[in-house]
Amino acid sequence: MSAMRRYLPVFHDVRGARVLVIGAGAVGARKIEALLAGGARVTVVAKEFSPAVEERAARGDLTALRGAFRPEQMEEAELVFAATSDRTLNTRVSREAQRRHLPVNVADSPGDCTFILPSVVRGEGFTAAISTGGRHPGAAKALREFLDDHREEISVRMERGQRRKRIAPRSGKVYIVGAGPGDPDLLTVRALGLLRGADAVIHDYLVPQEILSLASGKAAKICYARRGGTAGHGAALKQNAIHEAMVRLAREGKSVVRLKSGDPLVFGRGGEEAEHLSREGIPFEIVPGITAAIGCAAAAAIPLTHRERSSSVTFVAGHETDEKGKGAVDWSLLPKDGTLAIYMGVGRVAAIAGELAGAGFPLDTPFAIVENGSRPEQRVVRGALSDLSRIAIVSGIRSPAILFVGRTAALFPYENTEETSDEPVAQGV
Ligand code: SAH
Repeated sequence: MSAMRRYLPVFHDVRGARVLVIGAGAVGARKIEALLAGGARVTVVAKEFSPAVEERAARGDLTALRGAFRPEQMEEAELVFAATSDRTLNTRVSREAQRRHLPVNVADSPGDCTFILPSVVRGEGFTAAISTGGRHPGAAKALREFLDDHREEISVRMERGQRRKRIAPRSGKVYIVGAGPGDPDLLTVRALGLLRGADAVIHDYLVPQEILSLASGKAAKICYARRGGTAGHGAALKQNAIHEAMVRLAREGKSVVRLKSGDPLVFGRGGEEAEHLSREGIPFEIVPGITAAIGCAAAAAIPLTHRERSSSVTFVAGHETDEKGKGAVDWSLLPKDGTLAIYMGVGRVAAIAGELAGAGFPLDTPFAIVENGSRPEQRVVRGALSDLSRIAIVSGIRSPAILFVGRTAALFPYENTEETSDEPVAQGV
């Protein structure tokens, strides 16, 4: 057996093949059904036929040879199956088939097989075959059930794979692409396709490794921005370096993906980059992404608008460039009956709490901070505005985190949460 070649045919491929099956009990009947479904021409040898096989024979779907197995019955066969309850007979069938160089499969006896049958899951546009070489039928079954349960998703992934070819990136062009909040499943299909075909990826520090690893292996991966480098002279230098790198790589004929967290046009300098490329005459395209407010709201079940609680949502920066100073946002102009999604606010959370209160936001206005939204380490912390600063500090909230303020922030506060009375409510979702 050891020197034997193993085949992994899928029933798909048995169309028109002449197949001899020895045994017509329950196991034989299953094989026979699968073979018939695959379009094989089946001859069955058995002393007794199970009702299902009997019915097939009566309908003329197969040739039934009643009685003992005889080697000459193999003469016309292209494939042989032994599925009787008699192990000695099964082994005899296997030897005889091998002597004739016919592929043979013996149910539940991998040692007698020259090919084994994968279990098969079929879905829209795909057939998946699973095999453990006959050694771990339980594992194969579990995997089969998993694939069965995820049939729809596999079909969607197939569709994505096909689209990827159609959206192959053009060279000498810059794609300013949103990577979403961090979960790779939240990339757009277009972002994924462009990443796969990129020659170079210039990314933000916020884009996680899991997403970068989806880029083509040949792509150079470049990161200029450092954590926290959103303001000041250093940031301007970095932004210039990014501008220069994009232009240089595109002029070299490369397909450049400028990958930014969230959406490129929301607090992402995507606009400045597009302006620069356009000045330099470099073709570019902007691919949207799920911005942190949208991604984190979904992850924490915070409805941004709500018929009774919020009729607007405002994306606002809690901290901007130094030049604008801390008075960049006039909180008093923002609607108090809506939801505020405050980006880049972690470092100034105490100041923001004071500014909001000073602008007339009631102290009992609920807030939620989502840290690392959509990523495995996601945390959600909730409370009321009066307690924002204390809770943020006690919970040790760190960037990246987004702060939601408004009555919608308290809608599902206790979902997946171990509630404590006045302690900060932190949940690992
Ligand atoms: N262009 C990005 C925003 C970049 S500014 C977008 O559209 O989302 C960086 C800020 O985005 C962070 O300070 C934080 O407030 C927010 N942010 C980005 N990713 C986040 C995440 N996974 N969880 C929480 N906040 C996030």
